[in-house]
Amino acid sequence: MKLNNLFLTIVFVISVAVLFFVAGISFKHVSQLNKSQKLEAHTYEVKLELEKFFSAMKSAETNNRGYVITKDSTFLQSVENSKKELFQNIKAIKNLTKDNPKQLEHIIQIEKITKERLYILQKLVQISTEKSTQDPEFQRYFIEGRNKMDSINLQIADMTRHETELLEERKLMTKKDMMITPIIIYIILLLALLMISLAFIKIYRNLNKIKSINKELMLKNHSSQMTESIANYGTWQWHISDNTYVFSDNLYRIFGFEPTESKIDLEDFMIVVHPDDRDLVIEKVQEMQEKKHFTPFRHRIIRANDGEIRYILINNKLVTDGYNKEYLLVTTTDITDHIKAKQLLENRNRELEASNKELSAFNYIASHDLQEPLRKIETFISRLLDKDYQNISDSGKQYIERIKYSAGRMRLLINDLLQFSRTNRTDQAIEHKDLNELFDLAIQELFQRIDDTGATIHLNSTLPTLQVVPFQIQQVFINLIGNSIKYSKQDVPPVVNIDVEKVDHSSDVRVPDNKEKYYKITFRDNGIGFKQEYAERIFGLFNRLHNKDEYIGTGIGLSICKKIVENHHGFIFAEGKPDIGSEFTVYLPDKA
Ligand code: ADP
Repeated sequence: MKLNNLFLTIVFVISVAVLFFVAGISFKHVSQLNKSQKLEAHTYEVKLELEKFFSAMKSAETNNRGYVITKDSTFLQSVENSKKELFQNIKAIKNLTKDNPKQLEHIIQIEKITKERLYILQKLVQISTEKSTQDPEFQRYFIEGRNKMDSINLQIADMTRHETELLEERKLMTKKDMMITPIIIYIILLLALLMISLAFIKIYRNLNKIKSINKELMLKNHSSQMTESIANYGTWQWHISDNTYVFSDNLYRIFGFEPTESKIDLEDFMIVVHPDDRDLVIEKVQEMQEKKHFTPFRHRIIRANDGEIRYILINNKLVTDGYNKEYLLVTTTDITDHIKAKQLLENRNRELEASNKELSAFNYIASHDLQEPLRKIETFISRLLDKDYQNISDSGKQYIERIKYSAGRMRLLINDLLQFSRTNRTDQAIEHKDLNELFDLAIQELFQRIDDTGATIHLNSTLPTLQVVPFQIQQVFINLIGNSIKYSKQDVPPVVNIDVEKVDHSSDVRVPDNKEKYYKITFRDNGIGFKQEYAERIFGLFNRLHNKDEYIGTGIGLSICKKIVENHHGFIFAEGKPDIGSEFTVYLPDKA
């Protein structure tokens, strides 16, 4: 657009210049015509004066001759008149030719010869009065007089010729000028016409462009209005330089006004602000006027059309328009539905938390209380076995063995359940702990089982020191290594390899893209493994994959591990290959 404007300005300037040029040339042309006409008239005037002079000279000569022949003195009077006339003519010619040195020289010469000729005429009158015309003196003067007359004629002829030549020259020049000028004007006009045509095409194209831009703008405006209405927000601009406001249609609607209502300003919007939030809004308006922007805030309104209380979020950004003028762009979003949904969610969360706590407490109390009758069952069985064993029949002995076994299983289950409910408690003390120490304690606890099975445990790297609930992490180590020992292949002593690595999202895709670093602890064994499709299911409560009689357990151990790792904001994965082994990977955030 800028280039187009420059082009149109250039065309306009050139067109104006062409007009001035053509007008100038026409003016010059007319004044030249005028001048050449004047010069022509001047030439005719000179010629006329010369003819007048010649005829006065002739008249002087004729009258002089009349006197010589008749001796009538009236002829002399006429000679005197012609003389006066002659000098007036000379003066007039001098005046007319003063700007032409050549002609001036001629007329001076003519004046000189005229004076001599007049003197000879006078002499002839004088001699003819005293002597005969046949007298040699008279004859001499007479001949000399004729010669002078010839010289005068010659000078006049020269002057007339010179004037005629000048006239021809001027006529030729004017003719030439007259011929070239229209061609130049014509060419320049053509050029101007061309430029104006180009300018017209440009203007036409620009107009079309403006039309399509306008259409686009209208579309954008329409879709922005639609967006506002769909997303339930309105916008307004505060033009700082002239302190004016522009409000979008949807802003009116959000506040419960009709966009067609007569223009409303900032004060009108204040009327609908909830009385309890009015001070906050006034404070924000002041902040806006002082700093040209304000920190985003939330307030309530009592909607003008239905009196409903709505929640409004106000945000803003100081921007500069295309003309380098600053204005504040403000968005006003109706967040009532969002707030209500959030409140509902918070209420549900609170209810869920309460019911979880209740459930946990129930689990704990039930498990705890179950210990007492179980202990009694175990005590009575052992008394029965100690004192009355001989009196019991063989089948009775078998029943008692089964009761003993079931009671053992029940103890295991109660212990695991108690442990699981303990991991749910959030009031556990977090400590800055070296995980190597916790690992050693876990190994000590597993010592008997390691010894019985001939297992080897390799800690291949040093474990980190982290912020943890120590007994929980120790429990994770016990459960994972314990499982590797439990689910080992028959006649193959278990081997467990533990590796430690520090990772982030760029080095391990399992790590979330949150710029945090994690310690990845991998437990790899050579046991019976499992099908990969069960890799997630085994972390569920009471889920077991293998034969209950072959492998004693409750299906709680891995649930405990998952719960503990998640309590520490980490995560756990399992990978298994049947008959090859299993791999459990724990990720703990690097929080030292
Ligand atoms: P439990 O061992 O008491 O049955 P867990 O929650 O510890 O309960 O484990 C759930 C199930 O996952 C186990 O029953 C077993 O089938 C499978 N499992 C756990 N660890 C391993 C492992 N190292 N190798 C093979 N299977 C395993």
